[in-house]
Order: sequence, then structure tokens, then C-alpha cells
Amino acid sequence: MMLDACILCSHAPLEILDTHAARCPQCGLLHNREAEEMSYIEGGGQAVPDDAKTRWRLINARRRLNIIAPHFAGHDTLIDIGCGSGEMLLAAKRRLPHVLGFDTNRPLIRYIRENLGLPVIESYFDDAVIEPDLLTRKKIFTLSHVLEHLEQPLGLVKQIHAAMSPGDLLYIEVPLYTGQSFCQQGYRWNLWAAEHRALYSPQALDFIATHCGFKMLSVGTRIFARGSYSKKTRLRLFFRQPLRFLKCLATKPRTLSIADVMIGDYGFVVLRKP
Ligand SMILES: [Zn+2]
Repeated sequence: MMLDACILCSHAPLEILDTHAARCPQCGLLHNREAEEMSYIEGGGQAVPDDAKTRWRLINARRRLNIIAPHFAGHDTLIDIGCGSGEMLLAAKRRLPHVLGFDTNRPLIRYIRENLGLPVIESYFDDAVIEPDLLTRKKIFTLSHVLEHLEQPLGLVKQIHAAMSPGDLLYIEVPLYTGQSFCQQGYRWNLWAAEHRALYSPQALDFIATHCGFKMLSVGTRIFARGSYSKKTRLRLFFRQPLRFLKCLATKPRTLSIADVMIGDYGFVVLRKP
């Protein structure tokens, strides 16, 4: 992939680190120089999950929703962009009357319609195809593990911003290169993948919020639910860094686990349109 300028903030030139990566000195985005074009229409990176995977993804979606829920103020509609196999919609449906998913992955769209019976649109995000009634409601947009796939991530965020009314919320979650897994495994980490254009940092997420004029309600790190509450992981974290462990235990938000904070492989922000 040709990288003349940062795909997030347009700064040039990038700092070439090696054959794999180039870092933006302005927003901190770590570009994947070996990223490849990928089509998600017939499945792409994500397949219809088996029962064990579905169970964990649903737990993961509920935990994600717990991070956003303290900011609900009469919000009754959740629109998940890049909804994958629909667990976020399923989790939200238990708490909110209206949900809607967008995805381009045909097998997953079929799976959601046939197995979950939830409303999904087979398309890239486009507010023109949303029922006008839904657009007038107080909405939460969620965008989890989508931006890292895009060559123009800010374009999508701006498009969502334009569809939001004042007071609507946007939750963004992306893989970070500042977390423990990338720091320890480097380019061997499974999220350093050809379909990922870049890995993010808290600084890059902050750039998005500031650039688009969002109010930042919450910012933090997390990991996938399966590791998040593993006793083994917790013990390992304690023995490796006992002081940091105790400090995190005392200061971490209720909605996050120690592993979410200390391992921090995913970054999230909860934003509100003023
Ligand atoms: Zn940049």
C-alpha cells in the first residue's frame, strides 16, 4: 500500500519504522505498510460463528454495552455499524426498543435475519436508507472493530456525525498498538493482519473526537470478554506487576476488569454530539 500521508489526519511525511509499519508523528496512528485490499461481501475475515464463539461474543457485547449505558439519557435506539454476526444488536435489544445493524457481509446478514430475527441492512453505512422515524429518535451509534479496516476512517466518522442529532452518542472501539499484546508480540500479534490498515492509540482516538467536535464522555481500554475475567490472567497480572495491579484495582471503573485496564489491547471512546 502506498502511504504518502496519514490516512487519519493527512499529516505527511510518515515515520517509516521498518518494512511493516509507518507511524504518524501527528496523531500517532500506526500504519500497516503490508495491508491488502479485502472484500467482505462473501464472508471475508469473519465467518458464521459456532455456539461457543457466539456465547463469548454475546458476553463481550453485553460488557461493551455496560460501558455505554451510564451515558444513556432517554436513548432508545442503537445502530451498530459493521454488526458482524449481530451479538451487539442482540445485547442491545434486551435494553432498548429499537436496534438496527449495517454490514456488507452477506452470510452474516442472512444468519442474523434467519437466526436472530433482528433488522439489518446489507450495505455500507448510509443514513438515507434508515427509516425517518428511527432517525428522529435519541440514538446510540456503535462502531466496533471497523475503523482499522478502512482506508479513510475519518470519512465514515464524519458521515455518522452528520446523521447524528445533538445528544446522540457514538461508541468507537479499535485495536491498539499500545496494548500488552502488540508490545509483547509485535507483528506476530493476530490483530496485526493484512486486512487491518492501521492499529490505533489513545492519541489517535483523541484526534478523531477533537477533529469532529465531539464531547468525550468516556475513554479507556478493554480486551475480549473471555480473557477479561479469567482468574489465571488476573493472577499472572498480579505476580508480574503487583503495585500496578493494586493501583488499577483501586482506580478502575466498575464497568472494566483489571485485565481490561492492564492489558488494554482495545481502545474505546464514548462520544456525544454537542
Ligand atoms: Zn496522523
